[in-house]
Amino acid sequence: MATSESTVRVRIHGAAGEVTGSCYEVTTDRARVLVDFGMFQGALAQEARNAVAPEIDFADVDAVLVTHAHVDHCGRLGMLPRLGFNGPVFATEPTAELLPRVLVSSASLQQLRIEEAKQGSQPVARVIEPPELATPHPGIVAPPPILFFHRDADKVRKALRALPFLEWEPVADGIEMRFLHASHVIGAASIELRVERPSGGEPIHLVFSGDIGPMASPLLAPHQWPDRAPDLLVMESTNGARRFPRSGQLQSLESILTEARERGQRVLIPVFALGRAQTVLFMIAQAAHDGVLGDMPIYLDSAMASRASELYARHPHLLEASVRRECLRGRNPLHFPQLHTLMSRRESEALDRVRSGCVILAGSGFCDAGPILRHLKLAIDQPDTRILFAGHQVEGALGDGLLRGATRVEIDGATLDVRAKIDRIEGVSGHADAEDLLEWVRRMPGTPGRIVLSHGSQQAREAFAQELASTISCPIDLPSLGDTIAVS
Ligand SMILES: [Zn+2]
Repeated sequence: MATSESTVRVRIHGAAGEVTGSCYEVTTDRARVLVDFGMFQGALAQEARNAVAPEIDFADVDAVLVTHAHVDHCGRLGMLPRLGFNGPVFATEPTAELLPRVLVSSASLQQLRIEEAKQGSQPVARVIEPPELATPHPGIVAPPPILFFHRDADKVRKALRALPFLEWEPVADGIEMRFLHASHVIGAASIELRVERPSGGEPIHLVFSGDIGPMASPLLAPHQWPDRAPDLLVMESTNGARRFPRSGQLQSLESILTEARERGQRVLIPVFALGRAQTVLFMIAQAAHDGVLGDMPIYLDSAMASRASELYARHPHLLEASVRRECLRGRNPLHFPQLHTLMSRRESEALDRVRSGCVILAGSGFCDAGPILRHLKLAIDQPDTRILFAGHQVEGALGDGLLRGATRVEIDGATLDVRAKIDRIEGVSGHADAEDLLEWVRRMPGTPGRIVLSHGSQQAREAFAQELASTISCPIDLPSLGDTIAVS
């Protein structure tokens, strides 16, 4: 598609055949903007990539546009001040509220990992048996380098400009943008760009999907689509090779909670602070409404998840219609009488003494760090413990090992037999599955000029490209890192 008449170029700086590190550079003859600047996540080798800034003239970037507050989309924004960027950062209102907290917490975590490495106290969470699932002890490893400090996060906070959904805003010379609701987490958006042609006439339209939520979220308002088909659509394909069951999740949860209450079991649910925590809390709130919980306490052991949850109630227009109505009547969709929010480590440690049946939601969602490790260490060898997984697990993490049948694990120096019951609820995801991704494209007002698949494993985007090709007739690209797509 690259021709001498090309007027917009999109360079892929991350999330090419993988699910982290989202970053796209949009360049015209008059302007340069970035869409997202996310962290690479996963093994240490992946994290080491974060310290290498992409080949971008950051001093020449007019604006940075952020789809949402997940670290794989926004985590490297804290590097911007020291890379020479001095412009505005545009985000939706909820994202602009969350972003400074996410960056400050990331800066603290980077510092903590340096300290842990010095003291040899890095968290260890791994499978020992059976041998086919065993993961090696990481030993003492050098932590990833510091990317930014609190003061850098503060500079980004000052550069933030919050925009409402659907309103066009000029962000650079000849470029306007607007946010479209993506139904993924609170504040998550797709980004639509309208780029003037030097010769005048119909502008060039680009859409960056960001992360796309399921078509029928029970908690969030439906998606918004552009008014015309984009000339270029850059879309995620995380679940491009998966199809989830459409119903039964709440029933499964209710039956697990009923059993746990009757038998006095402790249920541990690994969650991420933004997205999975609220999805699960909303389901538990429904279970509470259905009378399933009785007086069994539910503990949310994550200050960040609690703050993110507050945002849902503060932005009722971004919630599903019936949830919004309840919210406007003063009923917080993520609150119920049995819920206790823990805001400190001391409060978290007090849970160790609770002997009756209870539910604990704690991070990380992959069981590779965070307070969930303490709860697992205390209770994983007890037969009256249940560990409930709702959502995807990354290969190699302890959570994945437990789902595959680990029988003995090591958590921070303790070797423990797994006697806890492992439960899984399929189909709880903040990401659309293949069917919903297809539906999202079909609901565009016309066929896009070209589709670029990003933010998915190579296998997921190849599978999804095949499905797309059988329903939509336009060129589909699976670019590599550093590739440039030109649109004219
Ligand atoms: Zn996301």
